[in-house]
Amino acid sequence: MKLHSLSAHQILELYKEKKTSPEEVLKDVVMRIESVEPKIHAYAHVNTHPKAMEGSLAIPIAMKDNMCRKGEEVTCSSKILKGFKAPYDATVVAKIKQSGGIILGSANMDEFAFGSSTESSCYGPTFNPWNLSCVPGGSSGGSAASVAADEAIWSLGSDTGGSIRQPASFCGIVGLKPTYGRVSRYGLIAFASSLDQIGPLTKDVTDCALLMNVIAGYDDRDSTSVNEPVPDYTKALVNDVHGLKIGVPKEAFVEGLDPEVRASVQAAIDELKKLGAIIKEVSLPHTPYAVATYYIIATAEASSNLARFDGIRFGLRESPSKLRKNTLIDLYEETRANGFGDEAKRRIMLGTYVLSSGYYDAYYLSGQKVRTLIKQDLDEAFKECDVILTPTAPTTAFKVGEKVSDPLAMYLSDIYTIPANLAGIPSISIPCGFSKAGLPIGLQLMGKAFDEEMLLRVCYTYEQNTPWHTKKPNL
Ligand code: GLN
Repeated sequence: MKLHSLSAHQILELYKEKKTSPEEVLKDVVMRIESVEPKIHAYAHVNTHPKAMEGSLAIPIAMKDNMCRKGEEVTCSSKILKGFKAPYDATVVAKIKQSGGIILGSANMDEFAFGSSTESSCYGPTFNPWNLSCVPGGSSGGSAASVAADEAIWSLGSDTGGSIRQPASFCGIVGLKPTYGRVSRYGLIAFASSLDQIGPLTKDVTDCALLMNVIAGYDDRDSTSVNEPVPDYTKALVNDVHGLKIGVPKEAFVEGLDPEVRASVQAAIDELKKLGAIIKEVSLPHTPYAVATYYIIATAEASSNLARFDGIRFGLRESPSKLRKNTLIDLYEETRANGFGDEAKRRIMLGTYVLSSGYYDAYYLSGQKVRTLIKQDLDEAFKECDVILTPTAPTTAFKVGEKVSDPLAMYLSDIYTIPANLAGIPSISIPCGFSKAGLPIGLQLMGKAFDEEMLLRVCYTYEQNTPWHTKKPNL
């Protein structure tokens, strides 16, 4: 039996029936990694001796390379953090370990989670399991590809503007960005602190609910984590959408939307209608400004968060022999010039600019105001519906190299995903079809704050009535 091709809930069933053991599953997944990893490169680092753990959820998992694991190297796939070993476990890591999770290694990512293609990693790109000449999406491209290629049973990613959902969509799997504050960010190396959330990437909706049960909850070490009761997410796996209201924003079907993506998303809307949901048109008039707003707020926060990488406290330090002048400022400058890649430098410059005293009001403050308008649009729309449906991304996976020299085109990949981060609401991507070229297409649903259960219910119903999640890439 190919254990690596199973979902976590199928494996848990086999454990219960004593038909397999965590050791056997781990051995099988490690063999899978050995056979396909040279083609996919989903991992920044593979643990050579992962241990099968005792615990109710002994499932092999890949963790994005921005989550601290005590004593292990964590680099955000950036040269500037090479050699940095985390002094403590991130809260999600501690929770995974407590549940018996088997950590396979760190998943490759865009440097500091800046990107939509996993091409800006200092370890080189990850490739899409469905077509090796295409990107897996990003920035959690390694996390998504590891699951799609059966090199991990499930994985964790982080999402600041779409980095869980867009790669889930490109790789044909399920990805959930929880409500801001639902999952602790303690030990997640920050990109943009007011937008970042950790979430699951899984083979199906049931696994998504199971992994949410492990990671969700209040944490007094994260001051933005929210002390709301955590439900049993598996209770939301109900195959019924009768009478639920699904809002479809009229702004969603914008210019630039690939016709094949449009057709698949339309077919999904028709399917949900057939299953008893009520489809309503809603309007989100400020969403055309979401990408611009995001690139002001996210870069402002990133420039501030990345100021700590100075060559003194973490990772890389430029050797004194390479310094032009032997001063502290020179050490900072040379370390940062050498340690950060192009996209990180671009964002530090942009973020520093929008925060500078002469431009703060014009850019950062305006950005915050538009952010509020975008949130208000969503609040209004949710008065009329239970969930809002859009495509996850305007296209299917693009070719490796295609957008590297055009950052603006790359930024537009997140046109549908960014509003949920700006508003702090939960949002999920699930597979809803394939292009003629055989690339997966994703459907996005957004929900009300702390209503992940509604997203899971709608997605579970859709999944039970469609075949997409059963398809596997040929590797
Ligand atoms: N692609 C977006 C960016 O480049 C989002 C990244 C993310 O969610 N981490 O910023």
